Amino acid sequence: MKIDFHAHVWNTQLDQVGEFAERLTALGTDAAVVLPIAPYMTNESIADLVKAASGKVIGFASVVPFAETTGIPREDPLTTLGHAVETLGLRGLKLHPLIQGFALNDPGLVPVVSAAGDLGVPVLVHTGPANGRAGRLQNGEINLLDDLAIMCPNTVLIAGHANPLSDAPYLARKHKNVYLETSISWARWGKLIPGLVRQVIEDAGPDKILYGTDFSLGRDQRVTDTNAVIDATGLPDADLALVYGGNAARLLNLS
Ligand SMILES: [Zn+2]
Repeated sequence: MKIDFHAHVWNTQLDQVGEFAERLTALGTDAAVVLPIAPYMTNESIADLVKAASGKVIGFASVVPFAETTGIPREDPLTTLGHAVETLGLRGLKLHPLIQGFALNDPGLVPVVSAAGDLGVPVLVHTGPANGRAGRLQNGEINLLDDLAIMCPNTVLIAGHANPLSDAPYLARKHKNVYLETSISWARWGKLIPGLVRQVIEDAGPDKILYGTDFSLGRDQRVTDTNAVIDATGLPDADLALVYGGNAARLLNLS
């Protein structure tokens, strides 16, 4: 089973869910976690995608976590998140420190991140740089998750794009609630440095890695590049099964 834990259907592609599902099948992906970014996409649009995609889309919610430093007007994030999970059936929360304008260790995150834990859903946060965005790079520094993991011990935190050259594996090893998601950075660095991806999986533990590609329509290469570096590790099939889908199924209560 292959679950891509990081994919997008952008606002302009909402009527192309059929094509999206077809591409996933062609690429060998059984289902993809589709991540919105509030306030630029609505949770309702993601719930509609899930309904239309006959099992191929696992929908996450997004909220603007607080207005004080982000400056982005927002609905009450706890109400929005509760509605998204309990009424719309979304299965996790996505937060983006650069686009939404906060640092990953801002204590203002604690209410909404803890609420996700109380609702039983994981929180995927973007880490590292983002192309073409105005956000401050230091806000997405992966080591800031060290603080958030301590402040919100009962919430599963997933480091999106977890850089394999960073301290990511130590974060995952140190905190039982921190997981690493592979999109973009693993293909980029794994291609250049043979042995790196295997080492990171062994250091973090194969039960702490979530396969993700940042796939969206037209981005097939991201899937094939990520598959290539993970397949090349030569790890036992049982470990690869965890990375490719077993861990995701466990965290999302799919099994
Ligand atoms: Zn993404």
